[in-house]
This record gives sequence, C-alpha cells and structure tokens, in this order.
Amino acid sequence: MHPFILERPTSLAAALAFRAQAGRNDAPAEYIAGGTDMIQLLQEDVRRPDRLVSLAGLLDRRIDVGPQGLRLGAAATMAEVAAHADVVRQYPLIAGALLDSASPQVRNQATMGGNLLQRTRCPYFRDVGYAACNKRNPGSGCSAIGGENRWNAVLGTSEACIAAHPSDLAVALVALDAVVIVRGASGERALPLDDLYRLPAEAPHIETVLQPGEVIAAITVPAGASGLRSHYVKVRDRASFEFAVVAAAVALRMDGARIGEARVALGGVGTKPWRVRQVETALAGSPLEPAVLRAAAARAAEGARGHGHNDFKIELMQRAIVRGIETAGEHA
Ligand SMILES: Cc1cc2nc3c(=O)[nH]c(=O)nc-3n(C[C@H](O)[C@H](O)[C@H](O)COP(=O)(O)OP(=O)(O)OC[C@H]3O[C@@H](n4cnc5c(N)ncnc54)[C@H](O)[C@@H]3O)c2cc1C
Ligand code: SF4
Repeated sequence: MHPFILERPTSLAAALAFRAQAGRNDAPAEYIAGGTDMIQLLQEDVRRPDRLVSLAGLLDRRIDVGPQGLRLGAAATMAEVAAHADVVRQYPLIAGALLDSASPQVRNQATMGGNLLQRTRCPYFRDVGYAACNKRNPGSGCSAIGGENRWNAVLGTSEACIAAHPSDLAVALVALDAVVIVRGASGERALPLDDLYRLPAEAPHIETVLQPGEVIAAITVPAGASGLRSHYVKVRDRASFEFAVVAAAVALRMDGARIGEARVALGGVGTKPWRVRQVETALAGSPLEPAVLRAAAARAAEGARGHGHNDFKIELMQRAIVRGIETAGEHA
C-alpha cells in the first residue's frame, strides 16, 4: 500500500481546501467517508493518494421525510436509510435496493455519498496486475473488451471502457428523479443524479461532473416519487453479499387496471445507472398483460451492445423489467 497521511479536518471548508488543491484525476488527495470501498482500493494499490481527507463528522446524516419529499444527508449510512420507517413506507424502492446491497456489516459503515461514488467492480480495474485499464491508467487500453467481460456493461459503453456502474442505490434513485446537493469552495449547487455521472467516451477515468474538491452533501427525492408501487429486482450470482449481474428498479402509478406512469432504471448493464425512458413511454396507459409488458421491455435493448461473455444481459435485463413491473403491479 502506498503510504499516506490521514487528514482529519475539523470543518468542511478545510476539507474542501485540501481536495481543491489536489486536482480532479488520480488526485494526490482523496476523500474517505465510510471507507468500505476506498480501503479496498488502497490495499490493492489501485488508489495511491498521498493524503486521505476524512469526511467524518463534516457532513450531516439526517434523514427527513416531509411534504417536500425525502432528504438524505450524505453521511447517513446504508443501514440507517434502509431501516428508516418513513423511507420504508414512502420510498420502498430505496430501502429495497439498499437491503439487496452488500452485507449488514458494510451497510452499517457505508454512507450515501460514498455509495454513489464507489468505483466499478470491473476485475481489471481492481487488479493492478493488468496494465491495460483506461479508467485506472488513462491511455493504457482496456483489458475487458477482449477479456472476461461477464460483469461489464452493454449500454453506454465506448471503445475505451465497458465498466458497469456498481451501485444499487443509484439505480433506485435515478428511477425516482433524485437530485444531489453538491458543495464546493464556491458554494452549493443541485444537479439531477442522472447528470452527475459521465459516460466513459474517451475519458473513462473522469466519472462524474464534480469539480475538484466538491463533495456530495445530500440527496433529495421529490415528493411525487413517494407512495409509488415499486420493486427492485436484483439478479446476482449468489443470494446475498454480491453485486448485480442485472438489476431493474421499477416504480408505477396505476390508473385503475392500467399503468398511469412508469419509472424504470437498470443496474449492472450500464456504464452509469441507466434510466430507460423509452420503456416508460411504451408502458404508459398499458394493461399489466405479459405480452404488452414484454414488448415495452424490449425497447430497453435499443443501443445495447454485448462483448461476448455479457451478451446474455441484453435478454436478461428485459426479463428483469417485466418481473419488476409484474411484482410492483401486484402490490395493490
Ligand atoms: C463486500 C462488499 C460487497 C458490496 N456489495 C455491494 C452491493 O451489492 N451493492 C452496492 O451498491 N454496493 C456494494 N458494495 C459497495 C458499498 O456499497 C460501497 O463500498 C459503499 O457504499 C461506499 O461507501 P463509503 O462511505 O464506505 O465510501 P468510501 O469507501 O469512504 O468512499 C468511496 C468513494 O466516494 C468518495 N466519497 C465518499 N463520500 C463522499 C462525499 N460525500 N462526497 C464526495 N466524495 C465522497 C471517496 O473519495 C471514494 O472515492 C459492496 C462493498 C463491499 C466491500
Ligand atoms: S472496462 Fe473500463 S475499468 Fe474495465 S478494464 Fe476496461 S477500461 Fe478498465
């Protein structure tokens, strides 16, 4: 492990200053929150910061549910959010995605902000024994494209990178139109979570639109997303403690026996959490009939491209959508 100095700033302003000086890419200073992802990356020599800047005690961990919607402080843990009675009642998609993530021990430690900014599980990114990884080492190539790519993405990929985004929480939040509150040296701004993440294109090492030093301070979800019938489908290689091979976050507002409004986002298949608005449009006004649902879900495959080992995801993600809609629709 590369030696580093652990900085424990006593104010957010001091923390922002540390990181702002450090620059954006492969920064010599990095934030650490719960540490559940960062420490693995340090141990594996994937990240080699000279300074780790602790966010402990600097960001709020409040969970507020009210008429304006849901607000999650960035320091709230996955376990706290998943167990919050109002989240469970009004935003069950979020609680479900969290409970399907990681393990109780990890959920007790991991934060909202860290979850959204965790790094990909592409095995070549996490193994410095492979020299070619454009995300870890810009310009070095991509070991996954011609290699073992079962876990990689089929949507939003580029010739430079096909890494799948790993967060389950982000998939549920993107389906519910969540907004992240970002704080930096020059103040606060709000941006849709969907816009936080960049597609890899030519520069997969730049994963978000965050400016140097900016932190995620909170997440908000509009009140319009509360009370929807929802279901989080997660297909994985073992029943717990495993990342998604394919996931579908589905939320429905029913209009009698027909779907009035549908929100659908996919995980495990996109280089970012992947909202499928064309599927949502096809579902609006539809009855919950298998053939109709299958035809709508087929639209998720538009633009999808497999790389051999992960071709199966294109069919599997459509089935996950249908399963999600059928299950959500049953929750009368
Ligand atoms: C064994 C295991 C299984 C897992 N399974 C799953 C799973 O099934 N589904 C899933 O979604 N996740 C899974 N995870 C990942 C886990 O959810 C993340 O490791 C965790 O959410 C990261 O949160 P953290 O607070 O520990 O972040 P850290 O590890 O502290 O930080 C992660 C990244 O975010 C940055 N960061 C942290 N907070 C902020 C902030 N507020 N503002 C700006 N930057 C910030 C850090 O600089 C770092 O780059 C698993 C992890 C493990 C170890
Ligand atoms: S898919 Fe992306 S993260 Fe994986 S090896 Fe290729 S460049 Fe690296």
